[in-house]
Amino acid sequence: MLQNSLVDEYLRLVASVKSHVEEQIALGIRATPVSESSGAGDEDGPAAPIAYESMEEIRAAVESCQACPLHETRTNTVPGAGNENARLVFVGEAPGADEDRQGVPFVGRAGQKLTQIIEAIGLSRSEVYIANVLKCRPPGNRNPLPEEVQACEPYLIAQLQLIKPRVICALGAFAAQTLLRTDQRISRLRGQFHAYHGIKLMPTYHPAFLLRNPRAKRDVWEDVQKVKAEHDRE
Ligand code: SF4
Repeated sequence: MLQNSLVDEYLRLVASVKSHVEEQIALGIRATPVSESSGAGDEDGPAAPIAYESMEEIRAAVESCQACPLHETRTNTVPGAGNENARLVFVGEAPGADEDRQGVPFVGRAGQKLTQIIEAIGLSRSEVYIANVLKCRPPGNRNPLPEEVQACEPYLIAQLQLIKPRVICALGAFAAQTLLRTDQRISRLRGQFHAYHGIKLMPTYHPAFLLRNPRAKRDVWEDVQKVKAEHDRE
């Protein structure tokens, strides 16, 4: 009798866990948050990144990657560029048309604006690292899909594990919201540091947004001043 009731209890428990997991999946939740302050990305999202030995290995893996349908429409992959020992990493959303053509991140008009921002804080592109959440261009520059982000983000995490930057600057609403697993507006996220895999992350407006809205320049300037202070901190 005792054994039967233990079996019943066990089956009830399994059914309840199964139903909870199905409910979480239906809600789009892929993992349970550990704590609010542990930083998004620690608890949710991509599969555990593969430990790559070098940036060259990551580049080679990205170049042959077919983990999501974007490999069918890309011209070139855009793994990232810059100093592999950088203290500061800029992360954007995904390559655009210019980047797709050249295989280099942030090379169009928005890229020129980013270069100006980097130089305005006394650094050069060769001193920082620049990457995107997605390494292939979404057709027509549409927003990345959640499954594309999930497939691609491990590369970014692996890059950050190798670079070990002191600070990350997320460019634009999509990059910030994706990395921080939030739907809060960029206007609310910017201006303060958040945690991403144990690294300080400052969201700010995308350089392309700045081109259309020059009045946002002051906010971006405030954000990157804080980023620079963190970059310089001993
Ligand atoms: S976007 Fe990322 S995951 Fe998708 S094919 Fe390109 S490299 Fe692979």
